[in-house]
Amino acid sequence: MSKYEQIQDSIKNLPFSFETEELPLENAFMRVLRENVIADMDMPPFHKSAMDGYACRFEDIGNEMEVLEVIQAGMFSHLTPGKNQCAKIMTGAAVPAGCDCVFKVEDSVETDEKHVKCTNPKTARNICYQGEDYRLNEVLIQQGTIISTPQMAVLAGAGYAKVKVTRQPKISVIATGSELVSPSEKPKPGQIRNSNTSQLLSQLRQMNLDVVANLMLVDDFKLLTETFTKELQKSDLIIFTGGASVGDFDFIPEILQEQGFKIYWDNTGIKPGNPMTFSEKNGKFVIGLSGNPVSSLAQFELIAKPLIYKLLEANYQPLRILGTMDFDYQRKKADRVAIVPVIIDERGLITEIPFHGSAHINALVSANALLEVPLNTTTINKGEPAHVRPL
Ligand code: AMP
Ligand code: MG
Repeated sequence: MSKYEQIQDSIKNLPFSFETEELPLENAFMRVLRENVIADMDMPPFHKSAMDGYACRFEDIGNEMEVLEVIQAGMFSHLTPGKNQCAKIMTGAAVPAGCDCVFKVEDSVETDEKHVKCTNPKTARNICYQGEDYRLNEVLIQQGTIISTPQMAVLAGAGYAKVKVTRQPKISVIATGSELVSPSEKPKPGQIRNSNTSQLLSQLRQMNLDVVANLMLVDDFKLLTETFTKELQKSDLIIFTGGASVGDFDFIPEILQEQGFKIYWDNTGIKPGNPMTFSEKNGKFVIGLSGNPVSSLAQFELIAKPLIYKLLEANYQPLRILGTMDFDYQRKKADRVAIVPVIIDERGLITEIPFHGSAHINALVSANALLEVPLNTTTINKGEPAHVRPL
């Protein structure tokens, strides 16, 4: 089992989650459902006309029929058309008792003011039958589902004006590095602009998560410890970038240890992006990502995202596509799972883009997917299948 697989396993088994809260339906979009959604009636609730037309008995289709009434959507008729009788009916209206067919307006001729004939002996029935979409008491959406657009519609249709979801965690983001300046500044010699924060905030935003604090700090043990302690008071989750490695000024692992945090892992077995920590103490969580931008991006996508979704109690299954290599991939050492930015096209062909490694974030501007190269695989030849994850 690779280190990366071990991490995936330990994410599945994490015994933590954030609490549940109840929200008005209109605020539930992109939140994680914390209850099964149950049908409180059949859908459709009645036999419903699928067309504007005439409701009748199918056996009378060849005959001239008397039109008894006009049924609008929202009305419920108590008349029962008999032999050679029908009711004019609108789409969405309840089909009257005794009728087993609605022929379309387009398939009809009015023979006089009160009578009509069907011109299409092969007409479809054009009825949506009661309960054909779902039945009373059926589970419509499972607990743990991330509420997207179709779920919003189903929740509304099932009468869930209030929805139980996971509360939003409070998140602090801290970029560390004495070389960092903000995007508005011109770096002096030895400095670089902080790009990880913008990257990380956008990755969180894609998960519908905001931050309560966004900080950039120099590599100073005392300052980092003080800030960390302060952020712990207000946040559930602190995400660091940088300082998670083994350099002289990589203080994050040391601080976590000193503060008595339980370290779940401190390396990932993926390349780029080996050094990464996850730790917990008293229901507060810390994720320490690499400073290298591509590493940080890959670590978030492959590990932090499923991890945070687990804490949110979401059934999150990242999309992986089995494509076909359109280039020869080779590497010497295969002791880690490799992540390579690529382009996958609509035929499923995977093409290479220039990529120099963990600092080369602008390579990802033209990529639309990450190729996963398994542990112990040194070559994947053109024409062979391979897994990618859309970006
Ligand atoms: P570290 O993980 O702190 O050892 O940093 C690894 C590399 O990533 C170094 O070259 C850093 O300059 C760079 N780096 C660290 N933090 C950031 C950041 N916030 N934005 C862009 N690059 C960074
Ligand atoms: Mg650093």
